[in-house]
Amino acid sequence: MFDDLNDLYQQVILDHCKKPRNFHELPAATCSAHGNNPLCGDNYQVFARVDGDVIQEMSFTGSGCCISKASGSLLTEFAKGKTRAELEKMFDEVREMITTGKVADDVGKLAVFAGVHKYPARVKCAMLAWHAAKAALKGEGAQPVTTESEQI
Ligand code: ZN
Repeated sequence: MFDDLNDLYQQVILDHCKKPRNFHELPAATCSAHGNNPLCGDNYQVFARVDGDVIQEMSFTGSGCCISKASGSLLTEFAKGKTRAELEKMFDEVREMITTGKVADDVGKLAVFAGVHKYPARVKCAMLAWHAAKAALKGEGAQPVTTESEQI
């Protein structure tokens, strides 16, 4: 399925899939949310420790396909030290990129997911952790995020 992705992007995704970063619970988390994509079987819990407006730490646990796990890994790496507003802005840019292939200037490493737009069935996999992170930051952690009810 990755025939059209260039080798570098494929390597980064595989690396984060096999060795996900921040892949653990966060005992000091101030908020968390569950994300579920029943179409693929992706299931994650995203944790965040937020101090004021700044995300000090973000982590995730769970299981799912390679794309969803790599996405959670790169998301939690990106989120560290960012403000809520910065994460929300990147959420919009990543969603735009993953659905259209259009890459914004400041997405950095997250550009590895641009090729996902060629595989519409994988868009929900790539966005799942982002939706869970957004829900967690909004304090909607009690309400699980599912791609069945979410307009992704
Ligand atoms: Zn998936």
